[in-house]
Amino acid sequence: MRNTTDYDVIVIGGGAAGLFAAGRAGERGLRVLLIEKNEKVGRKLGITGKGRCNVTNNAEPRTVIENCTTNGRFLFSAVNAFPPSAVMNFFEERGVPLKTERGFRVFPQSDRAADIVNALRSYIKASGVTRLTAEAKELIISDGEVRGVSSSSGEYYAKSVIVCTGGMSYTLTGSTGDGYRFAESAGHTIVKPVASLVGICCAERECSEMAGFSLKNVKLRVEDKRGRAVFEEMGEMLFTHVGVSGPLVLSASAHMREYEKNGYKLYIDLKPALSEEKLDARLLRDFEKYRNREFMNALSDLAGRSMIPVIVARSGIDPEKRVNSVTKEERKKLIGLFKAFQLTAISPAPIEEAIITSGGVSTREIDPKTMASKKCRGLYFAGEVVDVDAYTGGFNLQIAWSTAYAAASAIPLPDKNERKNDMKHLDVAIDGPSGAGKSTLARLAAEKLGLIYVDTGALYRTVGLYVLSKGVGSRDADRIIALLPEIDIGMEYSGGIQRMILNGEDVTDKIRTPEVTKYASDVSAIGAVRAFLTDTQRSLAEKYSVIMDGRDIGTVILPNAELKIFLTASAEVRARRRLKDFEAKGIETTFEEVLRDIEDRDYNDSHREIAPLRPAEDSVLVDTSDKSLDESLQIILELIKGALKE
Ligand code: C5P
Repeated sequence: MRNTTDYDVIVIGGGAAGLFAAGRAGERGLRVLLIEKNEKVGRKLGITGKGRCNVTNNAEPRTVIENCTTNGRFLFSAVNAFPPSAVMNFFEERGVPLKTERGFRVFPQSDRAADIVNALRSYIKASGVTRLTAEAKELIISDGEVRGVSSSSGEYYAKSVIVCTGGMSYTLTGSTGDGYRFAESAGHTIVKPVASLVGICCAERECSEMAGFSLKNVKLRVEDKRGRAVFEEMGEMLFTHVGVSGPLVLSASAHMREYEKNGYKLYIDLKPALSEEKLDARLLRDFEKYRNREFMNALSDLAGRSMIPVIVARSGIDPEKRVNSVTKEERKKLIGLFKAFQLTAISPAPIEEAIITSGGVSTREIDPKTMASKKCRGLYFAGEVVDVDAYTGGFNLQIAWSTAYAAASAIPLPDKNERKNDMKHLDVAIDGPSGAGKSTLARLAAEKLGLIYVDTGALYRTVGLYVLSKGVGSRDADRIIALLPEIDIGMEYSGGIQRMILNGEDVTDKIRTPEVTKYASDVSAIGAVRAFLTDTQRSLAEKYSVIMDGRDIGTVILPNAELKIFLTASAEVRARRRLKDFEAKGIETTFEEVLRDIEDRDYNDSHREIAPLRPAEDSVLVDTSDKSLDESLQIILELIKGALKE
């Protein structure tokens, strides 16, 4: 049977990365199909962190990157674009209050991983994602471009596919490494997967005697065969039938590779709070207390029951010897065992038992900003399938959220013409004087509603920058007009940010200086400059549903926009806001100077002959003087939603 349903994007895998990517893509207005073979999505998420779900680490992006064991730098843009603070907002806004615990680990206040899974389920539902319970079999690829996915229930077509299949760990929950096969079929290199957060198998048979016994507040130190410490931390761990496991051991395992070559030894300090002298004093005290007992029965205050026989055996002291006859030498031996109980690591526990696998799709073949494949157009990766991983503490889930966000935000919105029949065309024009908050509000509203935000001021600024760089005066109309044919302006949208490309150079950051601002205002009064930029603006609106801000959008550029807003605020309020922006950017200026500049620009913009700033007749006036950003945003969102319904 052949299904010919078309989607904009197919997400393979209903784990953390897949659910989040699907929701995000849906929220942007894309038609999303989520393929997951389990009836229930988010199975592994539901059992992580002992069923509590360590959803992220309440840390700065830099710290997240420092906590990556492999390819941290690759994650720089993704984690900065969607940092832990954004993850926390996301869940809290969706009714899952969070708490931060030791080591900045973040959990739901309820301690229920199910709350996180449910929030994601509601997210995909609200975003209009279609769920398919089926097994993804192959990617459909032709001419170096992905076309869709063939699944156990037929073929599905889309221009983009995000592979979020997880790694090889926790196979019981469904992660089987299929994603690696998909990636290979698209020409990707796979860095061999190995268990990363996993228990450790040890040579000592004694471990099985102590299996299940857990150690709290111990210090674990791992040394390689040259005696170099590769890990040292305090925490909890436990013995297993084959070795050791538990939080400390999982963390340590992320630092351990190629066991045979490195000959790792584990040293457990069972009494990290006691110096050797203090421990000796403790031993003497206990031996005094139990003076008539046999040695093996005198350690119960210092060691756990399961460990005593092992310690006694290792000490070489006769277990039946009267404790008061234990010699100083023998006590020294005992102290050594308590302060550095040694184990020999032979291998990580089997990969199926690992919480996280390291290895996966090589990061060299993925664009770090967009998670797009460099080998196959339209293909994206997110989450554990990528060769990135981190220590315990919520960092691995943070990687899943950030990479999913990057991929889902980068997928191009389809042309409006293609979607004519199934999506309402909507253009929103926001005009108003400088500093009324147009760009901030337009950007936020666009992000929320999945529209493209077009900042038209940036076009005038780019022309201004070019004129300035040629040493031409900002009011020298003739010479400016003569320069126009040399100007090629490109606009790119990446992660919700509009980047300005002037003759091939990215000038996004250069166009924000006060000097360029003045040039932009002056060149915008020249009719030929306005005409030169008109087509660029209109063609964007033809292609996409846009929120466009400027001075003449509702009156000249998009006279048929479905919604026109005239956004204003008093000159003083606007000057105060601008001053704050400048201060944040480290640009020195004064309130008076900013106010004067705003008043000059107001005058310029509203008194020029061509396209002066004025509200379109059919515009809605929004005055933000006494409104917070959030209040203004709500008003604008309501207006847009109203226009969508009409
Ligand atoms: O909005 P922004 O401050 O970036 O705009 C820079 C200048 O470009 C403004 O001072 C205004 O004079 C001009 N402009 C315009 N028409 C637009 C957008 C901006 O005249 N649509």
